[in-house]
Amino acid sequence: MRIVNAALALVAAVGLSTAAAAQTFPNRPVTLVVPFSAGGPTDTVARLIAESMSRSLGQQVVVENVGGAGGTRAAGQVAKAAPDGYTLLIHHIGQATSATLYRKLPYKPGSDFAEVGLVTAVPMTIIAKSSLEPKTFKELVAFVKANKDKVTYGNAGVGSASHLCGMLFMSKLGTQMTTVPYPGTGPAMNDLIGGQIDLLCDQTTNTTGQIKGGKVKAYAVTTKERVKSLADIPTAAEGGLPVEVAVWHGIYAPKGTPKDVVEKLNKAIDAALDDPKVIARMADLGTEPEPKDRRSPAVHEQFLADQIAQWKPIIEAAGVYAD
Ligand code: ASP
Repeated sequence: MRIVNAALALVAAVGLSTAAAAQTFPNRPVTLVVPFSAGGPTDTVARLIAESMSRSLGQQVVVENVGGAGGTRAAGQVAKAAPDGYTLLIHHIGQATSATLYRKLPYKPGSDFAEVGLVTAVPMTIIAKSSLEPKTFKELVAFVKANKDKVTYGNAGVGSASHLCGMLFMSKLGTQMTTVPYPGTGPAMNDLIGGQIDLLCDQTTNTTGQIKGGKVKAYAVTTKERVKSLADIPTAAEGGLPVEVAVWHGIYAPKGTPKDVVEKLNKAIDAALDDPKVIARMADLGTEPEPKDRRSPAVHEQFLADQIAQWKPIIEAAGVYAD
């Protein structure tokens, strides 16, 4: 009897301390892990939203970059972090594709996290070093077919959005290029501008400034419609090769994070996405916040499950895997 009472008291105490922790959350800085290098597109989105989240949480949201293995190194770290809301991950479509691309992942993208909320879906651009000969996307397609693996293509590792875009591009062309992996497309962009690699497919949150500044050549966007802020760049479909990818981003906490804490974090994301400064900056970078009706943790959870299911057969058909 005494043992039963002690056990009940323990359960009650744990319940109370979880509730109390949720009430005072956050009482110290929150870390937002970016699974790619600083200066890249995911990093840009993270810093943009972290600033605004800090204001509504009343605590600093500190961005930490942990690049490598196409974003899976950081995701693995956050999956194993304490489920208290103080360590978060911002990841993109790679959270869905890595579930199939990696034969051995030390975590399950679909079940080892508490989804906190979707942030934005960013278009991609197919860009090249400024000295690359082809003038149009059609010419680029012919150039890649003729030069095959002499053409170098930068990406952020297996599972990254740039890897996915390149994989779709190559499978539609039926040819291979030489891929050069980086811990993020921030450093890949530096090498593209420097002429060390030929091609890159990357989010507009990294490419808009470089395209407008004339530092790189832009051939196509990966959306159905043209992107407003880059209106003179055709869609890949207009160039005769429909490559369609939207790089959606979401924020995750480790599985087991108290519901109230997830709710508080979700409210801070929601407020950030309503912040006029965030909206204006996103528009400059060719993107926009997730619509209001798609911002709940439940929508994020369902969307991730749908995306894992959607990309599985495409990746299996392409036959690309990593260990
Ligand atoms: N854009 C990158 C990717 O290809 C990641 C990054 O550096 O943000 O997934």
